[in-house]
Amino acid sequence: EVKKMETDTIAAISTPMGEGAIAIIRLSGPDSIGIADKLYNGKRKLKEVESHTIHYGKINDPRTGEHVEEVMVSVLRGPKTFTRENIVEINCHGGLMSVNRVLELALSQGARLAEPGEFTKRAFLNGRIDLLQAEAVMDLIRAKTDRAMTVAMGQMEGRLSKLVHQLRQTLLEIIASVEVNIDYPEYDAEEVTNHLLLDKAQMVHDKIEELLVTAKQGKILREGLSTVIIGRPNVGKSSLLNSLVHENKAIVTDIPGTTRDVIEEYVNIRGVPLRLVDTAGIRDTEDIVERIGVERSRKVLKEADLILLLLNYHESLTYEDRQLFEAIKGMDAIVIVNKTDLDCRISLDEVQTLACGQPVITTSLLKEEGIDDLEQAIASLFFQQGIETQDVTYVSNTRHIALLAQANEAINEAINSIGLGVPVDMAQIDVRRTWEILGEIVGDTVSDSLIDQLFSQFCLGK
Ligand code: GDP
Ligand code: ZN
Repeated sequence: EVKKMETDTIAAISTPMGEGAIAIIRLSGPDSIGIADKLYNGKRKLKEVESHTIHYGKINDPRTGEHVEEVMVSVLRGPKTFTRENIVEINCHGGLMSVNRVLELALSQGARLAEPGEFTKRAFLNGRIDLLQAEAVMDLIRAKTDRAMTVAMGQMEGRLSKLVHQLRQTLLEIIASVEVNIDYPEYDAEEVTNHLLLDKAQMVHDKIEELLVTAKQGKILREGLSTVIIGRPNVGKSSLLNSLVHENKAIVTDIPGTTRDVIEEYVNIRGVPLRLVDTAGIRDTEDIVERIGVERSRKVLKEADLILLLLNYHESLTYEDRQLFEAIKGMDAIVIVNKTDLDCRISLDEVQTLACGQPVITTSLLKEEGIDDLEQAIASLFFQQGIETQDVTYVSNTRHIALLAQANEAINEAINSIGLGVPVDMAQIDVRRTWEILGEIVGDTVSDSLIDQLFSQFCLGK
């Protein structure tokens, strides 16, 4: 079933604002080549050039003839394009002003300013990509590390989609075989059907479970690991922060929509993005507890994915140190005993006992020793199998995780019912429900309002 094609032509600046020397204005829709031709002056009319070619020329204001910009223009005819529509990309070289002028001209000649995510929405509506892939485009834009980028790329290439489609196919087979059993009772295959059903349902269940296992890691890769550094004054919190930020190129710090009352900094530890929370207090060499109060710091601790607790190698443990151990009990934490370049005055045995299984690392931040061990500890705490494994299909999106969990529950109910001897056509209801829930992930069974909501989260020009 072919969905109705959009009839208007949209335009937007599709490169990030203020970044890079080249800015691209992208047009998509049936009239994009015609509109571009009104602005473009080159050797040939764009409507006469071959698809998927690029052309040098000038942009003039068709109303006044005024020269605006020198450009390279790509002409891409549908359906072999991202949106499956005709696409024109105008590459401008001169700064923001002229880019805006060119966009303005395109709008004056009949294009409409694209809504955020509208290009990707068209790609989805025209069947070029499924919802999972569309969401991956969004993740790609926001990816904070190369690793997160790889995960998003994998999703965009349709890895997860393929898996979900396979699971749905299996569920359809179950549904079909149950129908056969119902329609031809004389076929008398109830026993056989039960077995087959159970096997296949179990397989679907296992696969979903496998995917859910990657969810925690996928979410970390996507959103970053919220990390808090705690410790008494002078143990080396600022030094640690600086060395982490210094050694590992800080990544995107400007995430639209995040509130700024908690200052955050991103660092990339062996592919694991750390979001260092409340670093402002540390920077100001103030104690986090003192600065934001006991209640709030408890909350910050509770919401953290990772705590780095610093101790001083050169001083014996204090009451405050023990309290900090108490505060991080049961959490993902790494204990760092710093200043090993000085004499040992701390009881490392007692530290081990208090750490209660949490990894203990010794460092001299001054001499830049032990930082590798720390990074290794962080990476292995969250990626036991090693982050290097390239062929894991990660689920990272909260919406997908929630739906997978629901699907898992539904298929579990089906399995239980069959086990309890409930008639197959009853158990089938849960199988069908699983099929529907999985459909929501790839966008086969989602409502228009959800689609609008998802795409409105995109950046402009995507
Ligand atoms: P914070 O108050 O916990 O943030 O601690 P700082 O990072 O501000 O460090 C306090 C002092 O300890 C500074 O003078 C640092 O230079 C020093 N310091 C940090 N790490 C080490 C270390 O490994 N060895 C030594 N000897 N001094 C360190
Ligand atoms: Zn400090």
